[in-house]
Amino acid sequence: MNKKTIRDIAVEGNRVLVRVDFNVPLDIKTGVITDDSRIRAALPTIKYLVDRKAKVILCSHLGRPKGKVVEGLGMSPIARRLSQLIKIPVSTAPDCIGSDVEKEVNKLKGGDILLLENIRFHAKEEANDPSFAQTLAKLADIYVDDAFGTAHRSHASTVGVAKHLPAVAGFLMEKELKALGDILTDPKHPFATLLGGAKVSDKIGMIQNILDKVDLLLIGGGMAATFLKASGYEVGLSLLEANKQGLAHALMGAAKQKGASLFLPTDVMVTSSINEEAAGEIVPVGGIPADKIIVDIGPKTIELFSKNIKKCQTVFWNGPMGVYEMPQFSRGTKAMAELLANMKATTVVGGGSTAEIVEEMNLAHKMTHVSTGGGASLNFLEGKMLPGVTVLLDKGK
Ligand code: ADP
Ligand code: MG
Repeated sequence: MNKKTIRDIAVEGNRVLVRVDFNVPLDIKTGVITDDSRIRAALPTIKYLVDRKAKVILCSHLGRPKGKVVEGLGMSPIARRLSQLIKIPVSTAPDCIGSDVEKEVNKLKGGDILLLENIRFHAKEEANDPSFAQTLAKLADIYVDDAFGTAHRSHASTVGVAKHLPAVAGFLMEKELKALGDILTDPKHPFATLLGGAKVSDKIGMIQNILDKVDLLLIGGGMAATFLKASGYEVGLSLLEANKQGLAHALMGAAKQKGASLFLPTDVMVTSSINEEAAGEIVPVGGIPADKIIVDIGPKTIELFSKNIKKCQTVFWNGPMGVYEMPQFSRGTKAMAELLANMKATTVVGGGSTAEIVEEMNLAHKMTHVSTGGGASLNFLEGKMLPGVTVLLDKGK
């Protein structure tokens, strides 16, 4: 990674504004945080700063308040959880800018932590308003971006603020860029990419960008239907992106030309309607009934995918193999999660749903890297520059 990190800058005694991604799933009514992995992911950076007696000012968004103060989207439950995890007090501010916030900042001693109020309570955050960014920057001497999950957004707290302060990456940002960067530039071969999820259209850019590097491309999930259809199979009432069949066809051709082996499901689980009570039935892809919907990969496909993925040194996985939210359609997804978790290869998992599954199954620690950024990781793998990364100081300058 060619960006400066907090290791490259003197933080001691300085006021350090850290953009974190504390946008955790939480119950708005009770304030109960259902998954704190994003808070835990920011701990290495925060601890490093606290240990070096920096005055730590944390800033994040939570939910989608759309520029207004929304009850239930305040940061206090997060401050409490962070405090439990890091075992020191975490104070909160009444807002993220303004004289009351400045007073709180002035009270900070080296090693103290202050969590600013939800930055998206201000519409100027998402608008990347220059004066808002400047006011925010006034709170600190140094800016640290550790919010990989929002690095694909040009907001005041991810981009605007970096104009006014020395800007460096935190450890989570560094880890994400390294893990995903290695996939793009230096994967150990054979390299498999396992894709699933709802739509082909979400993933086309990424497939095109990694096609040069992959040895194996395996496709399950809802998007497999478009590829199966493009290969001449009838897919019943499955989620189809009709206008994407030509593209699926072209991608299959490109994969072949580049010497990548493409694997599609050979059998699938189908159902009549997607609901909690619906039962699934396994059919070969040549025999999908006209009135049924594909909801998971079948056992033969699990075996085929597993056998081939096992041969690989690097595996990147994005997108569930089926409608995993319903247990009866989650078998393929769970099998792939177990498989990757038990491999010695480099295993990198990206995507909001996919990361959530791996966390829920308690397998995240058995993967090489689980990206905390859904959209950001996709954009990165599509080969796009992330604006929040571009603004950070380059190494050697
Ligand atoms: P990620 O967030 O990991 O990138 P996506 O957002 O692309 O993943 O896709 C997740 C969604 O895909 C899940 O809600 C899941 O129910 C859905 N999905 C997976 N397989 C199918 C399928 N066969 N039919 C319909 N939806 C599916
Ligand atoms: Mg998603």
